Amino acid sequence: MIAITASVVTLGCRLNQADSALICDRLRRCGFQIVDEDYEESPNLIIVNSCTVTATAARKTRQLLTSIRHRHPYAYIILTGCAADVDEDMKENSDCDILLPRAEKKNLESILERRFNIQHHEHKPSETGDESIFKEDAFAYYPFKSRANLKVQEGCNSFCSYCIVPYARGRERSRDPEEVMADFRQLLDAGFHEIVITGVNVCNYKCGKLDLIGLLEKLLAVEGDFRLRLGSTEPGEILPRLVDLMASTKRICDFLHLPLQAGTNEILKAMGRKYTREEYRDMVGYARSKMPYLHVGSDLIVGFPGETPELFEESCEFVKSMHFANLHVFPFSPRKGTKAEKLPGRISVDEMVRRVEATKPIKAACAAKFAKSLIGTEQSVLFERTLANNGYEGWSSNYVKVRTRSPKSILREIHTVRINAGNEENILSGKLVN
Ligand code: SF4
Repeated sequence: MIAITASVVTLGCRLNQADSALICDRLRRCGFQIVDEDYEESPNLIIVNSCTVTATAARKTRQLLTSIRHRHPYAYIILTGCAADVDEDMKENSDCDILLPRAEKKNLESILERRFNIQHHEHKPSETGDESIFKEDAFAYYPFKSRANLKVQEGCNSFCSYCIVPYARGRERSRDPEEVMADFRQLLDAGFHEIVITGVNVCNYKCGKLDLIGLLEKLLAVEGDFRLRLGSTEPGEILPRLVDLMASTKRICDFLHLPLQAGTNEILKAMGRKYTREEYRDMVGYARSKMPYLHVGSDLIVGFPGETPELFEESCEFVKSMHFANLHVFPFSPRKGTKAEKLPGRISVDEMVRRVEATKPIKAACAAKFAKSLIGTEQSVLFERTLANNGYEGWSSNYVKVRTRSPKSILREIHTVRINAGNEENILSGKLVN
């Protein structure tokens, strides 16, 4: 029998990648063979899991759809993800055959059954009897990856004034813990050694009395050679307890991505962020006091309405003082329906470009400083790629690329490396310990 092939193309954040892995599992259960989009023959079905977090992301979704339609004129194309929910013009987009907003995702199997004449497979998500708890009725399936995302949380109640996420993904919900544990175990059985705990903000995981700390403890109690990485955390109350747990075990990576978004209290307030920069600095300070080689990454939005050149300079100074290991800088993008869309004091496009450029040296200097600080230390590395001459490359617990040599294969294994050098691309190298 000739297999019906399907490909899932993902744009945007880690949570979208996690959603795509769940879609892959549902397709696999329906009998599809999952292939890369550039497979030798056009896939029969292509699902585009879209992003619309900024106007640029929405434009990329449209461009991608057009290019996929051009390259695979006979494929059946489904558009799902955030753009399918909030971008009205997608309804008219002739490059996709069908739009699948979040509320209709449960109908995917019925749509495929009609189109491809596959066997009926019932999908029953979210039957927990509690709106704040959800079930996926699917497990993460990653046919081509060495690191897996485990979805535990969805949605957001914060309504930061610039952000479209609460409109696209809805209110906060947490995944049923039994389903989380079952998905986790099957990922370990599939051979994954690093599992990234993923959601919009995993810090807000809550299922009855079980919060993120309780969930992590349950995961850590499972036997196996694995480490956990926290994918998406927001500054908040749980952080000190989370840091204490992280510092007490080697099985949670020394990695925190804590979006700052602005380095002045005026703009943080206008953004609706729920902390001052001083509180943010204290949170990071506490975390670093417990984990000296912690990777603290962050996001920064430049050119938010009302950000004068002086406020921008002040923001940059604060960012410099934080010594982030990594910094993502985004120009402000007005999203339709958000509060910030109507705020006065818009910054011109030219000035926005200038500000993004001005942050690049800060970002580069901080990343280089962090990588250099690891020379002379021992770091735990998951090797994900082979190089020439018995070389291996992977990511350290604190998310820096590390290379080493080994006469026997260490691919997809976690090993300790004594770091002895770094290059101008912040790639570290060293010797295996033992
Ligand atoms: S916390 Fe704010 S920025 Fe983050 S997803 Fe929620 S609304 Fe958006």
